[in-house]
Amino acid sequence: MKILIVGAGGFIGGHLSEEIIKNHEDWNIVAIDIASSKIEHLLTHKRFNFIKADILKDVDVVEEQLKGCDLVFPLAAIAVPSMYVQNPTKIFELDFEANMQIVKWAVKYGKRLIFPSTCEVYGMCEDEEFDEETSNLVTGPIGKQRWIYSCSKQMLDRVIYAYGVENGLRYTLFRPFNWNGPRLDDIYKSESGSSRVISQFLSNILHGKDINLVDGGNQLRCFTYISDGIAALIKIIENKDNCADGQIFNIGNPHNELSIKELAERVVRLAGKYDKLKEVVKKIKITNMSSASYYGKSYQDVARRVPSIKKAATILEWQPTVSIDELLTKTMDFYFR
Ligand code: NAD
Repeated sequence: MKILIVGAGGFIGGHLSEEIIKNHEDWNIVAIDIASSKIEHLLTHKRFNFIKADILKDVDVVEEQLKGCDLVFPLAAIAVPSMYVQNPTKIFELDFEANMQIVKWAVKYGKRLIFPSTCEVYGMCEDEEFDEETSNLVTGPIGKQRWIYSCSKQMLDRVIYAYGVENGLRYTLFRPFNWNGPRLDDIYKSESGSSRVISQFLSNILHGKDINLVDGGNQLRCFTYISDGIAALIKIIENKDNCADGQIFNIGNPHNELSIKELAERVVRLAGKYDKLKEVVKKIKITNMSSASYYGKSYQDVARRVPSIKKAATILEWQPTVSIDELLTKTMDFYFR
C-alpha cells in the first residue's frame, strides 16, 4: 500500500511515518511538507519518499502524488490556539481551503481519506463525555475568532461526510484529544503562545520564565500520549473488514484528565528532577493572567472536554495505555535528558 502523508514533517505525521517505517514493511510513504527538521532520521529510508512542497502553492505536485497513492492523510494545518486569534484568515486558507482541495482530489481519484478532525469541534458542548454521533458542536459568536479553527474542521467533517453519502468517498475522521509527546513543538523558541500547552510550559521552564495560567488554569483537558494515538491510526489504516470506513472516532485518553493548573504544578515538580533544571525550577512561579491579556479579546475558552472512546474501543479494539505521569516523563526525558 502507498500512503500519502501531507504534513508528514509535523508531530503526528512524523510519529506515524516512524511507526510505519519500523513495523509495516508492506507500506510505502510519500511524505509532503514544507519542513523536515523533525523527520531527518527518516529521509534516507527507501520506503520514505520525502517531497518538499507547499500545499498552498505547489498544488500540481500534491495532486500528482495523490493520484499515485492508495490512501491520503491530509495532516498539514496550523493547530496552535494563539494563531486562531492572531491570524484567523491563515487558518481558513490552510486548514480549510487547502485541505478542502485535497478532499476533492480524493473524491475525484477514488482514494481512501483519513482526515484529522479535532476535539475542538465539540467546542463548548456541556456533555459529560463527547460522543461522535450524538453530541452537539457548540461554538461562540463571530467576534470570538478562536472558533475559526473549530468551524474550519467542522465544515470539512460535514463535507467529507456528504461526499461519503453522495459520491461513495471512503473516509475515516479521527478526533485527537490533546495528543502530546516528543517533538510536539519547538520548545527552544521562547515566545509566549507559540506552542501548545505542555510545550509552552516546558519552554518557559527551559528559559527560566514564570508560567502563566490563563484565567486560573481551571480548564480540564484529557492528555493522550502520541504512541496511543498512533496505535489507533494504524488500526484505522489496517481497516479490518472495512470497519473504519465512514466512521468518526474520538481518539483520546479519558483517564488522563487534569486541570491546566494541576498540569503546570506537575510539570514544574517533575522538571526539578533533571540536573540541568534543578536551580532554574526553584525560581519559577506559577502566575495568573486573563485570557484577554494572554490571547486577546477574541478568545473564548472551553471548560472541559472528555472523549467517549466507546466507538474506538468496540470498532477498532483500541484503548489508550499511557498514564499522564508516563506521558510527562517520556516527553520531558526527550527534551531535558
Ligand atoms: P503540526 O503543526 O505538528 O504539523 C503540521 C505540519 O504541516 C508541519 O510539519 C508543517 O510544516 C506542515 N505544513 C504547514 N503548512 C504547510 C503547507 N503550506 N504545506 C505543506 N506542509 C505544511 O500538527 P500536528 O499536531 O501534527 O497535527 C496534524 C493534524 O492533526 C492537524 O490537522 C491538526 O489540526 C490535527 N490535530 C492535532 C491535534 C494534536 O493533539 N496534536 C489535535 C487535534 C487535531
